[in-house]
Amino acid sequence: MPERYDLVLRGGTVIDGSGGPGARADVAVRGDRVARVGAVDADAAAAEVIDVSGHVVCPGFIDVHAHDDTLVLIEPDNEGKVMQGVTTVINGNCGAGVVPQSASRRVLESEAPLPEWDSYGGYLDAIARQPPSLNVATLVGFGTMRAGALSGAQVTRPATAEEIERMRAWLREALTAGALGMSTGLIYEPDRYATTDEIVAVAQPLAAGGGLYASHVRGEGETLLAAHAEAMEIGRRGGVPVQISHHKASGRAYWGYVRRSLAQIEEARVRGEDVTADQYPYTAGSTRLAAMIQNGWFGDGADGAREMEVLLASVPSRPAWEGRSVASLASELDLPIEQAAQRIVDEGGASTIAIMFSMDEADVRTVMRHESTMIGTDGIGWGSRPHPRHFGTYPRILGRYVREHGVIALEEAVHRMTAMPAQKFDLRGRGELREGSIADLVVFDPRTVIDVATYEDPRRPPAGMPYVFVNGSAVVRDGVHTHARAGRAVRRGVDR
Ligand SMILES: [Zn+2]
Repeated sequence: MPERYDLVLRGGTVIDGSGGPGARADVAVRGDRVARVGAVDADAAAAEVIDVSGHVVCPGFIDVHAHDDTLVLIEPDNEGKVMQGVTTVINGNCGAGVVPQSASRRVLESEAPLPEWDSYGGYLDAIARQPPSLNVATLVGFGTMRAGALSGAQVTRPATAEEIERMRAWLREALTAGALGMSTGLIYEPDRYATTDEIVAVAQPLAAGGGLYASHVRGEGETLLAAHAEAMEIGRRGGVPVQISHHKASGRAYWGYVRRSLAQIEEARVRGEDVTADQYPYTAGSTRLAAMIQNGWFGDGADGAREMEVLLASVPSRPAWEGRSVASLASELDLPIEQAAQRIVDEGGASTIAIMFSMDEADVRTVMRHESTMIGTDGIGWGSRPHPRHFGTYPRILGRYVREHGVIALEEAVHRMTAMPAQKFDLRGRGELREGSIADLVVFDPRTVIDVATYEDPRRPPAGMPYVFVNGSAVVRDGVHTHARAGRAVRRGVDR
């Protein structure tokens, strides 16, 4: 009896995510699983056979640093992520989560109608009922919980024991429902007023629940090392693994600091601490303009940051400003730059998103080379001119940094996008391409794969990535989005 498959990818080079060398092999899929890796008989029956010779077949990319908590419900195609090979997003980063929902609407900046939920279980159920094109996992946002627990109170004060217990209850529920851990965003409101002790107290359920601690640390310039030390201290005191979010040194005066912060991570790892980081491969960051003002970006003590260009990505009430620089609007408005930035927030909306060129290319490469670094987009998909990382992160690594500049090897890059995050975040059945694993797969041409999205024209899918499969279904075929809603709510430690 010939074998029967739903899909055979014939003649490609399989890079399995382990970091080991690629090897020529066919890949056969039955249902949502990889059924065979190796030679598939010519007489095997298959609903679809695709010749992928000259291409790499690898596990789907796991975007460990996503902010698509509501985007997956509002724009279920998730074009930016799906077209670049992302098959699973890990949302809830930088302290911005979805519970309580009343607070999350303020943090996640969505005006569109959403289903209602009262818990992380409810959120993941909403994803399962209305699946997007890719898989969705989530971290619990500390800032959203803090905004909810201290609602109506002065958020600059420490949380009371009662408020801490309320946050812990949300966290416990989330971990039971399958959340992967808790994130903080310690430059943001209201996270920034939480002391280390408060965060440790709230994080207490993580150890028993098996979650990790991810942090947008308190400073990425002068205070980078102290900020990393705080994240590691929280990990040690809480007995949990640590993920440093978007590892970087921001501001010209601090370029090169990443050599010290990498040494600091190495020391922690030598002590036996589970400390890793993620990175997006660009020299510009992106966040809310209001948060930049609040953190002194445009002020006198701005660490030399003022000379750096700031572009507007998303301006909800003044979309015509998207793509403009804050400096050009400041001259048009005849205002000093900080006042102009404030005017833009006042008129454009509190959720105005900006892009700032703050990093050194040499630092980006230094961080990328390091074994502690995995890949995440940090994409923010709103507005007409989002940061191109939302569309280009993974092909940019594979094309620009692997092929063109040889910063890391291809197999290593794939590992940092697949098995390494799956292991760290405890996603079972994903991140590896082997018989029995879930068929989240990407097919790309290593000779041509490249990001095409730019700051001027960011909503462009990459080149050289013709197929993406999620749970065995094609979501990209011949370089075109199929609109299949093949994603699932992914829960920690569950092989499904
Ligand atoms: Zn962040």
